[in-house]
Amino acid sequence: MPTIFLTGGSGYIGTHTCLTLLNAGFNVIVLDSNINSKKRALKKVLEIYKLSSFNFKNQLFFVEGDIRNENLINEIFEKAKNKKMPINAVLHLAGLKSVRESINNPLEYWDVNVGGSIKLFRCMIKHNCHTIVFSSSATIYGIQEIEDSIKEDGSINPINPYGENKVTIEKILKNIFDGSKENWRIANLRYFNPIGAHSSGLIGEEPRGIPNNIFPYICEVGSGRIDKLQIFGRDWPTRDGTCIRDYIHVMDLAEAHKSALDYLNKKDSEFINLNIGTGIGTSVLELVKTFIKVNECNLNYEFAERREGDSYHLVANNELALQTLNWKPQKNLEDMCRDGWQWQKFNKEFLENTSSINLQKLI
Ligand code: NAD
Ligand code: UDP
Repeated sequence: MPTIFLTGGSGYIGTHTCLTLLNAGFNVIVLDSNINSKKRALKKVLEIYKLSSFNFKNQLFFVEGDIRNENLINEIFEKAKNKKMPINAVLHLAGLKSVRESINNPLEYWDVNVGGSIKLFRCMIKHNCHTIVFSSSATIYGIQEIEDSIKEDGSINPINPYGENKVTIEKILKNIFDGSKENWRIANLRYFNPIGAHSSGLIGEEPRGIPNNIFPYICEVGSGRIDKLQIFGRDWPTRDGTCIRDYIHVMDLAEAHKSALDYLNKKDSEFINLNIGTGIGTSVLELVKTFIKVNECNLNYEFAERREGDSYHLVANNELALQTLNWKPQKNLEDMCRDGWQWQKFNKEFLENTSSINLQKLI
């Protein structure tokens, strides 16, 4: 079975991707510092996975550590080789992701996101691992003034350090691809707006403090932990005056990673940028109303000023991903709202219970 090195695997997208990889039969080695995630998250992944696999404990290994620790990453590659499960590919999700924090603390963001990636790529070269799927973001497109969906060759115009980090990492990967004597296989997945959770309600997004993104914020308001949602702007040139985004179920996004790996494995050499979204635009008001309808709950909201730096319309043209990956999003907005809320309720009520499952350590 191929072995995947999954950085940031304890996080929101990482846990769902980890589960998808395990279900597909891959061995998975997770490296995560847990700076923005909880240790129990991967245990919950195994709790879900054990229902479908007898051998559930021996496929997943966890290493707690920092992506900037080059010695540790080298050790991971070596230990994996010694265990007769050499790393075939890397899924690089680890990083810091708050736009606001990246403005307030740019050095930390460049250090972790770009510095950490460089160390990882150096280790990959050293250990002859030339296949990588990188978590990029639609944020690299910056403020769009167009109502068409965005193609991968659309203008790249990041407007904050976080977006600049993502563009830089994409560029570094392109330089490696162009300059290396080896055949590299590289996919930059530009995620649009992942929301929702696994339908079990056992894993999902756990933002620290008050969330910035709309969906976890809605969940907090729905739970009564925050009084009211502010909808930023009601006078945008859209069908109901609120901003439009392309929300994608996190399990569909997780599947896209597996499909990207399958796609790269069939290639001798490849460098590809792919928009990962549904291609469907949803306004903030439509999202709020769907959430209320599907979950039969109350959600206080009010209209507020436009948020600085917002695009009013950011929707993926996902044609390239549909054509190349043999992948198609399966879940709709109602699924996203239902599953996200299920996680929120479950999380609140049960998740403090510790799991009896122990994670296998690689080191
Ligand atoms: P997340 O914060 O839940 O997951 C990231 C994980 O990386 C966390 O578990 C965190 O502890 C870990 N991490 C952070 N710094 C680290 C370090 N120095 N060393 C080791 N581990 C470290 O975020 P997510 O939403 O799961 O995002 C995963 C990736 O996808 C990130 O690279 C993010 O930038 C990107 N992305 C996310 C979104 C989104 O809306 N969630 C959209 C586009 C791109
Ligand atoms: N938004 C909002 N209230 C909030 C958070 C977000 O109205 O408390 C809006 C925001 O203006 C944007 C959409 O929801 O139009 C998605 O915002 P988010 O920050 O989740 O994603 P991004 O803007 O990075 O795509």
